[in-house]
Amino acid sequence: MKTKAKELLKTIYGYDKFRKGQEIIINHILSKRDTLGVMSTGGGKSICYQIPALIYSDLTIVISPLISLMKDQVDSLKYLGIRAGFLNSTLSKDEYIKLIQGIKNKSIKILYIAPERLTNENFINFIKGVRLSLIAVDEAHCISQWGHDFRKSYLEIPNFLNKINQRPQLLALTATATSKVRQDIIDKLNLHNPLTSVDGFDRDNISFKVEKGVVSEAFISEYLKRNSKKSGIIYAATRKEVDNLYSYLLLKGFKVGKYHAGLDEKERTEFQDKFLKDDIKVMIATNAFGMGIDKSNVRFVIHRNIPKDLESYYQEAGRAGRDGAPAEAILLFFEEDVSTQEFLIEQNEESSKELKNTKRKKLDQMVDYAYLESCYREYILKYFGDKRIKNYCGNCGNCKNFKDVKSFTLDAQKVFSCIGRTKESIGISTLTNILMGKIDTKIERKEYFKLSTFGIMSSHTRESLEEFIYYLISENYLEQSAGSFPTLKLTSKAFDVLKNLKAVFRKINESVTFDYFEDPLFETLNTLRKEIAQKENVPPYIIFSDLTLMEMAEKKPQNRWEMLKIRGIGNQKFKNYGDLFLKTINKLSPQEIDMLHIDNIIDEKYLGEKQLLDLKKALNIEVATYELKEILIKTLFTN
Ligand code: ADP
Ligand code: MG
Repeated sequence: MKTKAKELLKTIYGYDKFRKGQEIIINHILSKRDTLGVMSTGGGKSICYQIPALIYSDLTIVISPLISLMKDQVDSLKYLGIRAGFLNSTLSKDEYIKLIQGIKNKSIKILYIAPERLTNENFINFIKGVRLSLIAVDEAHCISQWGHDFRKSYLEIPNFLNKINQRPQLLALTATATSKVRQDIIDKLNLHNPLTSVDGFDRDNISFKVEKGVVSEAFISEYLKRNSKKSGIIYAATRKEVDNLYSYLLLKGFKVGKYHAGLDEKERTEFQDKFLKDDIKVMIATNAFGMGIDKSNVRFVIHRNIPKDLESYYQEAGRAGRDGAPAEAILLFFEEDVSTQEFLIEQNEESSKELKNTKRKKLDQMVDYAYLESCYREYILKYFGDKRIKNYCGNCGNCKNFKDVKSFTLDAQKVFSCIGRTKESIGISTLTNILMGKIDTKIERKEYFKLSTFGIMSSHTRESLEEFIYYLISENYLEQSAGSFPTLKLTSKAFDVLKNLKAVFRKINESVTFDYFEDPLFETLNTLRKEIAQKENVPPYIIFSDLTLMEMAEKKPQNRWEMLKIRGIGNQKFKNYGDLFLKTINKLSPQEIDMLHIDNIIDEKYLGEKQLLDLKKALNIEVATYELKEILIKTLFTN
């Protein structure tokens, strides 16, 4: 069974490895136990029920909170070659009939429904006659009043289970890790002797950062300018703030959308649709936006205001980089936003004293995060009970800062001791000359070339040395005397460095990391993806993820075998788009594309390299037309 799961992961999804947590959850399910799976947003929960659903012979029902996003989920599966369906009020009669038939003849393995459907008598009667293998409850925290997205209709699940005369296996999935909510899910769903897996909280492709003391509008518009080709979400605390930021960015010429509960349904759906399809790159939203959105190519999430707790923050920030490619989560921090959150806690009359205290404590922990000087990721994971990272993740704002700080103590000591040996009687240019070992008239006259510091920094350039000396002045290690020939004096800070009581640390310029969005081939592939998506009327990330495009741009696969090694390309995706992308990557001529087609056809028949060459020779492939060759190959193989 386990090998079957791995095989499906590769052939259908095009991934080599299960993520942390996925393997555990799938193993639990396949051992026929009820399971509660807790994994972070973007951790890959869907595969945890999809793969068992494919292995099991009967139907899997997925209870998912949002009707509006079911089509998206079912489309994603369709593009992987999996037949799934959804049942909601948008279906036409024909679609409905087809769905029912598909379920009856078992060609549909996965059915998505919203919890509201569970009280529908027709549906209950229908399900009574269908054998179920598994019911997956997605976003299972919605069943708990203690959670942040309580949905009354989730409470209907146990009643539904009682009515359908069968008790399939249950899988509950959530990103909310608090033990209270977890227990509540187990109780309310009445999970039988469940196995719980709380793993897969780490999102190592997201770089977490906090910006303090910036002007938010300026920061955001600067950021959007620098990242104009990427898709992102900007969360703000209130509707008003969303509206303001939206107008501001629109005025600045950015193509942005907005989303909050104050907009009418039509407007919201329109913005959401455009965002999913990359017609609008950036969405500005309150926390009403995001649940059920599986857009995998969100490259950044910026929080304009501090959220109320780390659970909310991680859930929202986690919407960045679901595909596993590099992504950023930036929190803009302002003191006054904390008062707003405090006010909201105090003002809420429904909260008991105990609940208010809990909320205050959570807010404190969120604020601590903003002030953190150590690894952000370590802090987050610890908060969720995972102690895997020790001190340093290397990818968050603080770790990167730390990484880019270098000790310049020795260099500074050389400079200071040189000044000392000249009895503090020289200016910047003579100092530079001595350190570089260059003789000028003053050095000759004063015999500074005899100093032990003469030429001690000869490997440096004049510009870098001068720049370093100016830095030491600006940091008060050195003082310049007044007058037309200013000389350099050592301050007490410099003496401390000389005595090794103090070190000189300096941030070296952050090296510019390679950005695929600037790579011409990536851009071409991105455009191609968008064209296909537009033609087929689905979001681009459903065709291929950003990560898949990045790997293609980097590895430049030249044939089917190489293409199938790219993450995210399974059999169905290759069948649909493999040739087209191969052709684009390799800038092939029509004849070469013909060859490629043939290679693929031959490959499907599992020919070895040598047989393939022989066949090509035999068919005189250079002269025959593609159609002719295809006919020849087919007749050859059917005999
Ligand atoms: P969640 O529901 O936990 O928020 P999803 O199920 O939507 O997350 O998965 C997020 C993304 O991760 C999807 O784009 C999915 O294709 C990708 N993914 C899932 N499992 C793997 C894996 N084992 N290797 C690589 N990518 C994966
Ligand atoms: Mg999900």
